[in-house]
Amino acid sequence: MSETIFDKIISREIPAEIVYEDENYLAFNDINPQAPIHILIMPKKRIPTINDIQKNDSELIAGLFFIAKDIAIKKGIDKDGYRLILNCNENGGQSVYHIHLHLIGGRKLSWIPG
Ligand code: 5GP
Repeated sequence: MSETIFDKIISREIPAEIVYEDENYLAFNDINPQAPIHILIMPKKRIPTINDIQKNDSELIAGLFFIAKDIAIKKGIDKDGYRLILNCNENGGQSVYHIHLHLIGGRKLSWIPG
């Protein structure tokens, strides 16, 4: 499990616009936003892909969704709606191998993603 760019964001070696942080999680604006709101929410624990989650990560993974909905409420997009995406491996479009949930909103999103 090698270090990724997101570990460098956690350690503040690389700057990011941080939206939320606590002991176990970090959320920050995506550098290449696909919508007016595009935030990445990740556990600080290094888990490369969703294939690597273990039973004892259950609470940690569930926490991503609680943080996402709290941020959505704070940003005022909860009523209009938003999308949560978790890409896995190459065909899923994953480019950073440290799991993260994309919170995307602030405009009407089309379906299905290409
Ligand atoms: P993935 O493709 O792995 O699901 O998502 C990775 C996301 O990380 C992409 O949306 C990409 O724009 C974002 N990203 C990559 N490098 C950086 C960075 O250095 N800073 C920030 N804030 N976002 C990044």
